[in-house]
Amino acid sequence: MKEGLVIKALELPGEEDMREINRYTRRAYEPGEVYAFSLVLCDNEIDRDFERFSVESLERLRELFLGRTCIFDHERKSANQTARIYHTELERVDGETTQTGEGLTRLVARAYLPRTQGNREIVELIESGILKEVSVSCAVKRGVCGICGKESCEHVKGKSYGGRVAHTVLLEPLDAYECSFVAVPAQRGAGVVKSAKVEKILESGADGDVMLSKSQVKEIGERFRRLSEKARWGEKYRRELERGVLKYSAIAQPDMPRHVMESAVKVLGIEELAAMENTYRRSAEKALPLRPQLAPRREEHRDGNRDFLI
Ligand SMILES: [Zn+2]
Repeated sequence: MKEGLVIKALELPGEEDMREINRYTRRAYEPGEVYAFSLVLCDNEIDRDFERFSVESLERLRELFLGRTCIFDHERKSANQTARIYHTELERVDGETTQTGEGLTRLVARAYLPRTQGNREIVELIESGILKEVSVSCAVKRGVCGICGKESCEHVKGKSYGGRVAHTVLLEPLDAYECSFVAVPAQRGAGVVKSAKVEKILESGADGDVMLSKSQVKEIGERFRRLSEKARWGEKYRRELERGVLKYSAIAQPDMPRHVMESAVKVLGIEELAAMENTYRRSAEKALPLRPQLAPRREEHRDGNRDFLI
């Protein structure tokens, strides 16, 4: 998912625009009947996921985005409330270069929507700048390291190597999907920044003090709660796996002292643990047919009784 931006509304679509728009309409529209605007879909700058498109990829996306729709992330979503991209072009931004030193190239699109009663609010939201950001997504065939050009390597995304930031270059776009408008909170100007910034603060920490807005504090709190909940489930899962390993290994390898297994499972990662549980369960099933409630108990195991019905 990448972010784009509406750059401007077209005063009144010109003749050429109308020709292109009317390719997508059932009947020929008059300039006054449509609302057209242009937006930047993406560019070749390294984004906050430490990914970038090559200029060749942008060129391919230019073709793929033509005719795609932009939907408005709105409660009253209806078929009419979509804009259609009718024109795309690559634009070299004069005098601006990307972090990698290339000339900044943007994929700019023009989209239209019919001026209907139902679209009036949307048009106003775009005009007022509230609907400004779009998220676009596409599928690419492969990505290579921006430093060494390999598909898999040791370079860690986001890390700097001799002043060059490791990132992925997205190559060979296969498809472009619809883009959707993201409403920007109205109080953005009053110090509220996008949640992406929160992500950055959480991931990389910050140099020096950070001022957080109320909504950011709330967001961090909510994330924390969600993570705690996940952690709780994770621990429960882990305990179950540990129990399973101990139970099945006692059947599969009765001679293995329990305390050895107990200290072994403690150091295992969750995936290893799951694999071990699976392996021991299978060999336990071979050793004796397991019924659901059948489990060896520690006390019984010590006495040499392996089967115990609880
Ligand atoms: Zn590399």
